[in-house]
Amino acid sequence: MKISRRTLISGVIAVAGSAVLPRIAWANTTLSLGAGMLDTLSDGHLMLPRSFVLGDIPVAEADAVLEPFGLAGAASLLPDCNLTLWRGDDRTVLFDAGSGPDFMPTAGHLMAAMDALGITPEDVTDVVFTHGHPDHLWGALDDFDEPLFANAQHHMGQIEWDYWTDPALPDTIAADRLTFAVGAARRLEVLAEGINLFNDGDEVLPGITARATHGHTPGHMAFEIATEEETVMVLGDCVANHHIAFVRPDWPNGSDQDTAQGAETRAALLAQLADTGTVFAGFHLPAPGLGRAVRDGNAFRFEPLT
Ligand SMILES: [Zn+2]
Repeated sequence: MKISRRTLISGVIAVAGSAVLPRIAWANTTLSLGAGMLDTLSDGHLMLPRSFVLGDIPVAEADAVLEPFGLAGAASLLPDCNLTLWRGDDRTVLFDAGSGPDFMPTAGHLMAAMDALGITPEDVTDVVFTHGHPDHLWGALDDFDEPLFANAQHHMGQIEWDYWTDPALPDTIAADRLTFAVGAARRLEVLAEGINLFNDGDEVLPGITARATHGHTPGHMAFEIATEEETVMVLGDCVANHHIAFVRPDWPNGSDQDTAQGAETRAALLAQLADTGTVFAGFHLPAPGLGRAVRDGNAFRFEPLT
């Protein structure tokens, strides 16, 4: 595996006095794996109320874990959003579609990131969803409610698809997530024609295998990308932060729809990732979201790739 970094600038704007300022710039990390290439693309970040992430964890206990990360007492958390882009075998595969313009003003910046990497939405051959939450799905349509990635085949796990397209969902989902249900159904209706639905263990695309990681949502999927060199994993949100998820994977994460199942999934997966030294991409880990899990006493810590 070869790691390379560069600073990307997606464009410039002219300002009065002929000075020119970069519009967006960030450090990009590319992993070269055999004949393939993995990049993560920033979609911006979320602003989440502390209670949404920490749920019922007592404040003092949570702050004790958050303190070394500089987050004790924080009223809100600002997790990054990193989409994974895999290029290999003549395919350009985007994992998740980002937030689009309708979710939060701090997110939905994927187009600038793609622009900086020299990729257009038309270049994407496949969009593979980890799950149907807004920051992963809502960017799939353009301003005219047509598929933004117009040439792409879309892929979603069968269980996840069945959950978000169930007409009864708006009546049964928690009231504070009603917009998630309505927003997902509207977008999936557009994507329904020709979508590829898959199950745990299926090879979604050559070398890319789905891995059931339920709990965050009922049908959440992670993905293993196998290359000649090694296998890397796209986690989505089954390990959704770099602090509590690693230090106390057994604690309920308020953003998981089934907190008990989410904790069980997280603890088992982190043990496997740590024991195998597998490199992974985490959607909400600090940008660029690439690293490994390392055992630390009874728990784990996130070790970014360097
Ligand atoms: Zn997310």
